Amino acid sequence: MKSFQAKIRFASVLLFGVLSMNFLAAQSMRPGVGGDTSPDGHLPGGAAPVRQPAVVQGNGINYHGGPVLQGNPVPIHIIWYGNWTNGPKASDSAVTVSLIEAFLASTALGNSSYEAINTTYGDNTGNVSGHLGFGQAVFDNYSAGTKVRDAALAGIVSRAMTAGLPNDPNAVYLILTSSDVNETSGFCRTYCGFHTHATINGSDIKYAFIGNVDKCPTGCEAQSTGPNSPAAGVGGADGMINVITHETEEAITDPDLNAWFDASGNEDADKCNFKFGPTQIAGNGSHFNQTFGGHNWLIQMEWENSRGGGCDQTLGGPFFTN
Ligand SMILES: [Zn+2]
Repeated sequence: MKSFQAKIRFASVLLFGVLSMNFLAAQSMRPGVGGDTSPDGHLPGGAAPVRQPAVVQGNGINYHGGPVLQGNPVPIHIIWYGNWTNGPKASDSAVTVSLIEAFLASTALGNSSYEAINTTYGDNTGNVSGHLGFGQAVFDNYSAGTKVRDAALAGIVSRAMTAGLPNDPNAVYLILTSSDVNETSGFCRTYCGFHTHATINGSDIKYAFIGNVDKCPTGCEAQSTGPNSPAAGVGGADGMINVITHETEEAITDPDLNAWFDASGNEDADKCNFKFGPTQIAGNGSHFNQTFGGHNWLIQMEWENSRGGGCDQTLGGPFFTN
């Protein structure tokens, strides 16, 4: 793997290494940065592929028999973990909280032609709706400390349910940590985020870990100043939004790690990791490739499971290789 300081903007190489974690699917860091991992997360020996009308094969990604999330919309709940008022980085802030919750709104990402790419995935009972929506959020004041282990995440989600989040096996839960929190299995070293599932409070709960990427902008941000940065170099919110996009796409199309991934173990977003397609320049000089919900965004493309398969910015749009 290349060095951590390799400077590659909008690069196209997809590197996917192997993580030591089990039962999760991680987003690799930017191309040329660190070694990452792969969905070693996929449960071994899952159900045999079953072809049904709702399942279209032959587009560079394969169905392995498990369910997708069909909610219309799929609720996205957030656990704001750590200090989201005045943490050590300027992006550990209420501004970031507001921006991310607005991004996930059913009238923003949740109703975009980007999210519609996800409708090309399904299981034996139906397809993904292509709609998601921000559900509820709670704040967690370091209930598992500042060095969070993989094994602690389920407890964080469980406590969040006690604090008010619904217990919903058809939702996706995001654990978003401030920049002073380390996820000890490799955040900012080998991955930018990951998603997995576990039985929590009696339900099969899908959750993702995503840290404030201002902790490692070189590795996990496409640009240090984003289209919504409140100041130059305060790119954490935009950077997290890119990772959130990646993990929510995957959590919906491969929630139990036994539905959609390719022969290399790459899920739909992995296949377009840190690939953005053509971009435009915002007023502050940053790049963006999407506009919805009243903002510009820079979010990676997603693998469309139709027309032979490829990375695009909108359902039915042109495919781009980087
Ligand atoms: Zn991924």
